[in-house]
Amino acid sequence: MANPGSFDTEFGPGTVVVVGLPSDENSSFKRGAALAPARIREALTSGSMNLHAENGIDLGDESRLYDLGDLELAEGPPMLGQVSEAVAKLLARDARVLALGGDHAITYPILRSYGARYGNLSILDFDAHPDLYDEYDGSRYSHACPFARIMEEYPALRLVQVGVRAANPHQREQARRFGVELAEVSEWQDGFALVLEGPVYISLDLDVLDPAFAPGVSHHEPGGLSTRELIRLIQSLNAPVVGADIVEFNPTRDPSGITAMVAAKLYKEIAAKMLES
Ligand code: MN
Ligand code: MN
Repeated sequence: MANPGSFDTEFGPGTVVVVGLPSDENSSFKRGAALAPARIREALTSGSMNLHAENGIDLGDESRLYDLGDLELAEGPPMLGQVSEAVAKLLARDARVLALGGDHAITYPILRSYGARYGNLSILDFDAHPDLYDEYDGSRYSHACPFARIMEEYPALRLVQVGVRAANPHQREQARRFGVELAEVSEWQDGFALVLEGPVYISLDLDVLDPAFAPGVSHHEPGGLSTRELIRLIQSLNAPVVGADIVEFNPTRDPSGITAMVAAKLYKEIAAKMLES
C-alpha cells in the first residue's frame, strides 16, 4: 500500500486511489467522523492484521492501489465543490476512487462527478437510513440528504439501498418519487441476494452494521447486519466496482478500537473487489 502522496503522482488506468475526506460539519447529531480516515489507516498499518483480502489480493504488494492522503477541506459549502472537483480530476485519469469519510454528506459531491462520468451507474448504498430527506435541520446538504440531491440531479441512476431499518413516511415518499429500491432488513426472509449490473459504486455507511459489531458510529440503529453478512454481499457482486466510500465511522464512540478494525477490514474487502474486475 503506497504512502500518502500528491495529486501529481503518476498512476495507471484502473488504479484504486484512496482519498480521505475528513468532514463532519454536516452531521445532525454528533461530530467526530472527521477523525476517521486517520484511524482507519492506523488500524490497517497497526501490525494487528495483514493486508491480504479474502480473495487473495495482497494490498501491501499492490501497485494498482495508491493512497493520496487526505484532502484539505474548507468549512461550509465550498467543501462540496472541492470534493467534486478532486473526484472529477481522478476520474479523468481513469482512477477508481475509494473515499474515506467523513460523514455521509461527502457522498453527494463524489457522486456528482460519478454521475457525469458514468450515465449507467448503479449505486449500492449500505445504510440503516435512506438519507433521502429533502432537507434536515434547515440544510439540504446534511448527511441525512445526499441521496435526495444526487437523484434530483441524475434521475437515471439506479439506487439500491440495502440494510435500511429506519425509513419514515417522508423518506418512503422520496424513495417512490426517485424510484429508489429499498431493501429493508425487515423484509428479508433467508438473507438477501444482490443482482446488479455494472458499473457499480458502493457507499458504505457503517451504521448498516448492527451496533454490536460496529459501535463507533453516530447513530446507533439496532437490528442490523453482521460483519460477515455485509462482507458476503460485497464479495457476491459480479459487476465492476468503479468507486466506493466508507463513511460515518466516529472514533469518539469507539473506545475499544473495534470499529476501526471493522472499517479496516471492509476497506480491504472493498479495495480487493475494486481490483478484481
Ligand atoms: Mn447514511
Ligand atoms: Mn446511516
